[in-house]
Amino acid sequence: MIPYGRQDINQADIDAVVEVLRSDFLTQGPAVPAFEKAVATYCGVQHAVAVNSATSALHIACLALGVGKGDIVWTTPITFVASANCALYCGATVDFVDIDPPTYNLSVERLAEKLGEAEKYGKLPKVVIPVHLCGQSCDMAGISALGQQYGFKIIEDASHAIGGRYNDEPIGNCRHSDITVFSFHPVKIITTGEGGMALTNNVELAKRMRLLRSHGITSDEADMHPRPPEELWNYQQIALGFNYRMTDIHAALGLSQMQRLDEFVAKRHAIAKRYNRMLSSLPILTPWQHAVSYSSYHLYVIRLQLNKINKTQRQIYEAIYAEGILVNLHYIPIYRQPYYEKTGFSAGYCPQAEQYYSEAISIPMYPGLTEAKQDHVLNVLRKVITS
Ligand SMILES: *Cc1c(COP(=O)(O)O)cnc(C)c1O
Repeated sequence: MIPYGRQDINQADIDAVVEVLRSDFLTQGPAVPAFEKAVATYCGVQHAVAVNSATSALHIACLALGVGKGDIVWTTPITFVASANCALYCGATVDFVDIDPPTYNLSVERLAEKLGEAEKYGKLPKVVIPVHLCGQSCDMAGISALGQQYGFKIIEDASHAIGGRYNDEPIGNCRHSDITVFSFHPVKIITTGEGGMALTNNVELAKRMRLLRSHGITSDEADMHPRPPEELWNYQQIALGFNYRMTDIHAALGLSQMQRLDEFVAKRHAIAKRYNRMLSSLPILTPWQHAVSYSSYHLYVIRLQLNKINKTQRQIYEAIYAEGILVNLHYIPIYRQPYYEKTGFSAGYCPQAEQYYSEAISIPMYPGLTEAKQDHVLNVLRKVITS
């Protein structure tokens, strides 16, 4: 069986985890700040807050930006549900901006149009969450210019994109956003098992996110409320937070994986280059790349040109799957999910997203995909698509 994505764990990763297991601290020890520092340095950002998932990072990022009841958050429909759910956790409502046909990322033109309309009705978003689909950056300069004009904040959901670059700078430097979020789930670029991180250059946002990841509790004297001097207060809860902490076991794995981040992304590029070349004769579209983007290539999505193929998308998907190649679909437009349809969305809302959904298939892409395995994938694809 060949999965669409999988982790790459070496002896150094295992040793790093074992070392924590033998140490004094399994959580709230030195590995978490060391991992945060390594990611912040790599990305060229001031502050990094490690948490137990990207979903948690998105939640506390929204809360830190003040998202609450009555607020509106916009994102792309072609993403994992967590990009939208974070706003609902805060009591806000979510709306979707259609995608840009060549990159499959949130379209800046559609965003500009929708903002113009929303302004008329007093329904402007408080936060917009662009997602760097497959690891290719959104047009962040365009989105942040609109943010300045319309006054919304920006959270980059870069769950796919650590190790990627935009305009020759690392994704995660928050040049065009308030907060950037990474995921360290095993299918992503580097892993901690489960884990995530929120990055920012704003010290206040970093402080609020640190508070929220650990119950809203502080032991910093400067933040504590005055109490009579004879009372003992070794900590105070000053906000309603959560237990979203990352453990040192997870952080040690992440820190060890950071050493091979560039190598992982280079391998993904080599695989993509080979796919691009070998797939050029089939009736499919390979991933188009913007000149200013260096993708982390979390995913390799092909688009079927169904008018030139004798089968449906579902038939092709199932035929490849039946050969032991565990292809996937990233993603069904979020608003088509039954939970979101219940809130009033229906088919047809974002035509480009739906067109993409009806043609996309993610084929295997991970550093451990050997040329022999990739050749097998290519042979199966050729057979299924052309027969
Ligand atoms: C994986 C993913 C998430 C959620 O990440 P977790 O770490 O599993 O919570 C959020 N957004 C996108 C785009 C993702 O791919």
